[in-house]
Amino acid sequence: EIVSGETTGKEEAAIELTLRPQTLADYIGQTKIKHELSVYIKAAKEREEALDHVLLYGPPGLGKTTLAMVIANELGVNIKTTSGPAIEKPGDLVALLNELKPGDVLFIDEIHRLPKMVEEMLYSAMEDYYIDIVIGEGPTAHPVHFPLPPFTLIGATTRAGMLSAPLRDRFGIVEHMNYYNQDELTKIIFRSAKIFQTKIEDEGAHELALRSRGTPRIANRLLKRVRDFAQVAGKGSIDSVSVQRALKLLQVDDQGLDEIDRKLLLTMINYYNGGPVGLKTIAANIGEEKSTIEEMYEPYLLQIGYLTRTARGRMVTAAAYKHLGLEYPTK
Ligand code: ADP
Repeated sequence: EIVSGETTGKEEAAIELTLRPQTLADYIGQTKIKHELSVYIKAAKEREEALDHVLLYGPPGLGKTTLAMVIANELGVNIKTTSGPAIEKPGDLVALLNELKPGDVLFIDEIHRLPKMVEEMLYSAMEDYYIDIVIGEGPTAHPVHFPLPPFTLIGATTRAGMLSAPLRDRFGIVEHMNYYNQDELTKIIFRSAKIFQTKIEDEGAHELALRSRGTPRIANRLLKRVRDFAQVAGKGSIDSVSVQRALKLLQVDDQGLDEIDRKLLLTMINYYNGGPVGLKTIAANIGEEKSTIEEMYEPYLLQIGYLTRTARGRMVTAAAYKHLGLEYPTK
């Protein structure tokens, strides 16, 4: 019998909060980014200025939101968090900016999804700390010049290429987040296990790290599920056997690929002889959004060399055929 151990939304949110590291020292991995940021933060604090605007980009679950919170904490300022699609009209942006105190951080997740009109208002806000808005309509309409306190905008996006050039150019600090290596993921898993008050053995943590697709969010999610299985099986601590058993049931293979990854690769292999296949065709065949494939599935498959991108579409590599136990066709 499997006990899911799902917690309520509120508990989940509380755990999520404690899972997030608070300081740069506590933030595991992304060494180069941390080093650079520590210098910029120190310099901004010494000058008593707002930190330059920061753009963080990379696949979901790599710690962009967490890093934004760490930056605000290290600066000793407040952070307001929102997302591109949540800011529907210029008034929403004005309301957010109006609440900022000097030096505060405004974090906009999925910043590539800001409505155009809002994005254009951000230009002067970022560059010179003011916005011009038009109040009223028709003959009584008049422009209002609205000064803002110096603030730091931190934008996060899964794809930097989706940002318009004028917006991208206004970020002084641009950081590309990388997938985490096994060592870093193992550290994250040990840290999270401690927070969950769960015992995990070295081999168990290594095994889990191998299957987490280089992504802390996935490592944490799998750890929670494996913990449930180990608990129900009456194990005092998580070893590699409990990881293997649990992940087999969750259909996560030894490379961390899940059902959708395999469906994607197998569709390309079975119906298109391994490619080249266009993204649109893949999306239609497996019933997933194009953007989901592009942002969540494809980057990791590219990273581990199971897919390649060519001018004519995506292709499955020999390594992927091997992983799936299939013969690579001679073309
Ligand atoms: P993103 O905003 O890039 O989608 P999040 O910041 O929400 O990712 O991070 C996802 C999860 O991974 C969170 O639970 C967070 O606590 C954890 N996490 C991310 N980066 C790290 C890290 N460097 N060290 C420890 N935990 C991390």
